[in-house]
Formats: sequence, C-alpha cells, structure tokens
Amino acid sequence: MKEYSYCPICGSPLTKQLIEGKQRKYCPKCGFVHYENPLPVALAIAVRDRKFLMIKRGIEPKKGSWAPPSGFIESGETSEEACLRELAEETGLSGKIKSLVEVKRLEDEEIYGDMLVVVYLVEVEKGSSIAGDEVEQVKFFEIDQLPDYYVNRFRKTIEGIRNGWKEEVE
Ligand SMILES: [Zn+2]
Repeated sequence: MKEYSYCPICGSPLTKQLIEGKQRKYCPKCGFVHYENPLPVALAIAVRDRKFLMIKRGIEPKKGSWAPPSGFIESGETSEEACLRELAEETGLSGKIKSLVEVKRLEDEEIYGDMLVVVYLVEVEKGSSIAGDEVEQVKFFEIDQLPDYYVNRFRKTIEGIRNGWKEEVE
C-alpha cells in the first residue's frame, strides 16, 4: 500500500496526530486529515442458464486468474449501477440485479488495501460476450468447473443456483 507523504490539498509534508481515537496523517498547514476508508467494490455473481460468468484478469492484482466481474464504485452511482457497469465493461454483456448476496470486508495487501465488497446475484441477458480492455478472456463456467476459492466463498449462492433458486427469484 502506498501512502501519502505530502498533503494532497496544499503540498505540505504531513505529520501524524491522534484524531478521533486514531493516529492519522494530518496537515499542520491547512488542517487536512487523511481518513483511511475501505474502497467500495461491486462484484457480480453473474449467471445464465445455471452457468457462471467469469473473466480472466488481464491486469494486476491476480493477472491471469479467473475472477467474477467486479470493480470500484464511482462517485454518483449506486452499487447496483456499478455492478452492472463493470459487468458490461468487462464482458460486453448486460444483466439484471436479482438479489444482494453479501457485503464483506476484504484486504488486498499489494495494491488497494481495505475494500468493502458488495456482492450481487445478477442474471445475465442474452448476447455474446466481448472481453473488455483489462480482460484476457470471458467464459461461462459450469458449476463443476468453477475455481475452488469461488465455490468456497459463494457456496450458498451456488447451491441455490444448482437447486433452481434462480427461477424463484424473479
Ligand atoms: Zn495541507
């Protein structure tokens, strides 16, 4: 994780100070306080015909590994909008939010630090996929082909889909 050394407002060197119960980086010149908050991420468990849409990541972190479509929520959009936007950008496919699966804290020690991940179950609409800029490949996985980490993390939702839960959600 990279950290601020200088104030992003006025450019003065930052010091540390106890503010609201925590040591935080603080600018003695203009009063800027660097509050460290988790980055909000929207993630899609994207399903069509009981198959799960995954992307092969073209960029770090975890370049070359299969991951669900996901990305940072931008200012001015809802987490649902971010989820569907990332799905479209990464796979060329549109979808419908079916339900909120979970909100979970994750930590990426290499680049992004703390993240708050909002996970939706998304029904993918008809159409062909196109790999986005930061994506090597897009593929629908049968349940039995899914990577272990994905199955372990989303076991309940996957079981639900396997048992025909998708049809009931409408
Ligand atoms: Zn400053």
